[in-house]
Amino acid sequence: MKFKVFNATPEESQIALNWGKVHNVDIETTPHLLTMDELPGLAGIDGIINLQIGQLEPELYPALNQLGIKQIAQRGAGTDMYNMALASANDIIITNVPSYSPESIAEFALTLALQLIRKTEDIRLRIEAHNFRWENVICGRVLGQMTVAILGTGRIGQATAKMFKSVGCRVIGYDLYPSEQMEGIIEYKESIMEAVEEADVISLHMPPSPETHHLFDKAMFERLKPDAILINTARGALINTEDLLEALDLGLLAGAGIDTYEFEAPYIPKDWTGQPLEDQTFEALIHHPKVIYTPHVAYFTDEAVKNLVEGALNATLDIVKTGTTQNRVN
Ligand code: NAD
Repeated sequence: MKFKVFNATPEESQIALNWGKVHNVDIETTPHLLTMDELPGLAGIDGIINLQIGQLEPELYPALNQLGIKQIAQRGAGTDMYNMALASANDIIITNVPSYSPESIAEFALTLALQLIRKTEDIRLRIEAHNFRWENVICGRVLGQMTVAILGTGRIGQATAKMFKSVGCRVIGYDLYPSEQMEGIIEYKESIMEAVEEADVISLHMPPSPETHHLFDKAMFERLKPDAILINTARGALINTEDLLEALDLGLLAGAGIDTYEFEAPYIPKDWTGQPLEDQTFEALIHHPKVIYTPHVAYFTDEAVKNLVEGALNATLDIVKTGTTQNRVN
């Protein structure tokens, strides 16, 4: 049995090779993306593990079917880069790895909150200028005395709630389906508005949907406490970024920790060193003094990478052996 891993870093390749030894599967890895150019190298391959960023070329679905390949295992939770109708029409099963380390994202949300509250960026900039004075602009607040609103209390929201609770915060929250397991940790509110109006820290953990699209817009920012901070490690489309930048300038909130930006796709994860960014809103976001911006790295830990690679390999093995897997998307 032989599997091929596309778009693989040296670290991911090593994890896959180790997995192959344990499961008695030959593993070939490549840094190349999965494109039509790769078809000649797929002869004799039983399974594909991929990290697709843009849309998969439509011609690939029938071409893979002709080669007898039955699946593509995406190393990630999202699968919107695949055309499910085309995949199903060509008997290709797309699988994902729905949960690979909620704690990684939760810890990053906590990190962004602490960085903003303790003004670590301002302190760093002053140190670079050799200004070591203690002045009010770098005076922090105590996170443990704050009320934190968790919006979306699924896998990542719950892990984040536990972390804020562990430092002494009062944790409130909202979800369409409140979790009984969070009793004693999250005090559920009846509406998003009720939660955000009380919050010193708001941490977003909902999926993108018509209901959550630009949930944080001008009208919402007007309802926040002026010293509140907003953390988004979920999806960029939850926030109207232009409204956020205006609200920060007007003092409607104190700061924002942004790991996901609505129109990040052309830029992430790529090296744009020395090149201008065409997206002026993105440029304004990353340079705003009240924003800590990070390029969708909340998940990016050694633990998450290992779980992603092994999760995709396990799903591939399931399909090759049994014809299906619990992580199939179509
Ligand atoms: P999940 O499905 O486990 O939880 C999502 C929760 O949101 C669910 O409890 C659901 O009921 C709730 N929800 C959905 N629509 C809602 C609405 N309109 N109002 C209130 N609640 C609503 O998902 P998860 O694995 O916890 O992921 C949460 C978010 O984190 C997703 O947007 C995901 O894309 C994102 N994410 C980001 C990174 C990163 O690196 N930044 C990594 C993984 C996931």
